[in-house]
Amino acid sequence: MATFRPVLLRGILRGVREARGSRLPLIAGHKLLYSCNLRCRMCPFWRRKDQRLLSLQEEVKMMNTLADAGVLFMGFEGGEPFLRRDLPEILRESHDRFHTSLVTNGLMLKDRFMEVRRYLENLFVSLDGIGEVHDKIRGVEGAFMRTVEGIKVAKDYVETTINVTLGSENMDQAVNMVNLAKELGVSVSFQPSYDYSTAEKLSPERERLREVLLTLLKMKLSGEPIVNSKEYFESILLSWYGGRPWKCKPWLTINVDPQGRIVTPCYVLNEYSGSSLVWETDIEELWNSYDWSKFESCNACGLTCYLEPSLFDWKNLSMVRERILENAVDYLWNVLQEPIKPMIRAVSE
Ligand code: SF4
Ligand code: SF4
Repeated sequence: MATFRPVLLRGILRGVREARGSRLPLIAGHKLLYSCNLRCRMCPFWRRKDQRLLSLQEEVKMMNTLADAGVLFMGFEGGEPFLRRDLPEILRESHDRFHTSLVTNGLMLKDRFMEVRRYLENLFVSLDGIGEVHDKIRGVEGAFMRTVEGIKVAKDYVETTINVTLGSENMDQAVNMVNLAKELGVSVSFQPSYDYSTAEKLSPERERLREVLLTLLKMKLSGEPIVNSKEYFESILLSWYGGRPWKCKPWLTINVDPQGRIVTPCYVLNEYSGSSLVWETDIEELWNSYDWSKFESCNACGLTCYLEPSLFDWKNLSMVRERILENAVDYLWNVLQEPIKPMIRAVSE
């Protein structure tokens, strides 16, 4: 129950501040470092040199400031987060304050997952295709097999999702990836690749992407384990192919770079270069004085971390059920099961 109480209490306080008209970030995305043990062709981050990274004490200072600013969900990413030796300590601190998730390429998952398993609510593992398709996009031979081995270890302990970035080289893999997720007993999430200025351009061909999104929407509606909301697929289809844009709300997510600087308005437009340090900033003041209005009509990316929160609506009952109620039930079920999990595993082996 470590996370449940602080998140619930701060959620109530956050609601009061919002009711008074304050705009606050709900989710934080923090890149722990840029270094990576993969060389994904569509990624700009591994091409950068890491400057001095935050110490554990600075990470904690950052988390305390974010918690005060109303953040409830904390997501760590990179680069590859497992390249940090102190990852378990960082996640433990986060887990005491936030609903905590981690994005990894999975290469080190098999070896290091047990160090972090207690501190995670959600694990997202990037996989872009089956076998050589994945290895070619990600630039390392054997990466697919190692990542799948990691998923097999992690999935029994934490809610695990395969993240697929759809680009020109893996459009025909989407259905295979849903089938792989089913085989492994995990869920899967999709997003179109975005062409960053310093990376290889791999964004998907427009008409082919439309077909794939329609297929995934159909699969979602027929109950396949796809975690994107149906509104996610519908919004991209309506905007990119029908000229009816969604309203982007990048303020719901606060991004923090590896040096602890805040990235505004979003890491796509700013390509992850932050300005002011989190703990030296009055986030509520910044969030309520920044001119977000010019980004509301921007529909340039379909990244799930921005689009899904932008679409969430308390009046949409299917979203409330899928995003809030089912997650809360799963979470409580996991908490209740925790003491008897070793016995369940022993019986099923
Ligand atoms: S695994 Fe992630 S951070 Fe590493 S190169 Fe690939 S996309 Fe970039
Ligand atoms: S749609 Fe535009 S403003 Fe919104 S997250 Fe993407 S790039 Fe940023």
